[in-house]
Amino acid sequence: MTEPLLRIEGLNKSFGALKATDDVSLTLVPGEIHALIGPNGAGKSTLIKQIAGGLAPDAGRILFDGRDITALPTAARARAGLGRTFQISALAMEYTVLQNAMLGALGQAGSVWRFFRPVMKDQRLRAAAEEALARVGLSDLAARRTAELSHGQRRLLEVAVALTLKPRAFLMDEPMAGLGTDGSQKLTGFLDRLRSEAPILLVEHDMDAVFALADRISVLVYGRIIATGTAAEIRSNAEVREAYLGEEAPA
Ligand code: ADP
Ligand code: MG
Repeated sequence: MTEPLLRIEGLNKSFGALKATDDVSLTLVPGEIHALIGPNGAGKSTLIKQIAGGLAPDAGRILFDGRDITALPTAARARAGLGRTFQISALAMEYTVLQNAMLGALGQAGSVWRFFRPVMKDQRLRAAAEEALARVGLSDLAARRTAELSHGQRRLLEVAVALTLKPRAFLMDEPMAGLGTDGSQKLTGFLDRLRSEAPILLVEHDMDAVFALADRISVLVYGRIIATGTAAEIRSNAEVREAYLGEEAPA
């Protein structure tokens, strides 16, 4: 089997008496979309935050390309090639679409003093931002204030912001949320192509998208992974149907 790019080993995180992440292990291999599904409150976002670096695990390890990144801050993980989109939008609403994409591209800049440079004139940042906007189909809206975008367009912009850093792997927390059918289909098509460039750990409620895209699916319930397998394996898993999928899984 291909060597995993991302490997989570025995991750644990408690909030008081609540075990939000309960001994979670999983891998992300090159070329794949690995979907993480489960009911509300199962601990999906908590897991993504620990992998991205926003939340420190109580125990366990996170290995990226063979390197232990468990103690690295978020920015260092992003520079190492771990890209992410958030469940809650992190966009600056008063900035233009292009400016948001450029701020995203700035995330890879090394030193702090760089922030004081006239960022918006930096041709390299601008080119990276424009390329990312073109890839998600937002070039025409580059000069718009982000606040004027539809919800779906903002979600695409978040993906573009993540793309500017040219990540080697993606963490995505509900990128389809709030997209209409048309938007979901566009993003599904985009993620389908993106996986060959960088594998994606995808948290998603849209089961049509999950079952259309995922090479593997892991089901998280009360902080524990109860099953990992192909779409067909997950669909026919009795424990999964009982605990979560019920009627939601497309036949
Ligand atoms: P999901 O993304 O699967 O819906 P979350 O990871 O957001 O679930 O939450 C998992 C559980 O952890 C929930 O019960 C939630 O209330 C709790 N939780 C999440 N973040 C915190 C926090 N910072 N402090 C206390 N409890 C939290
Ligand atoms: Mg969540």
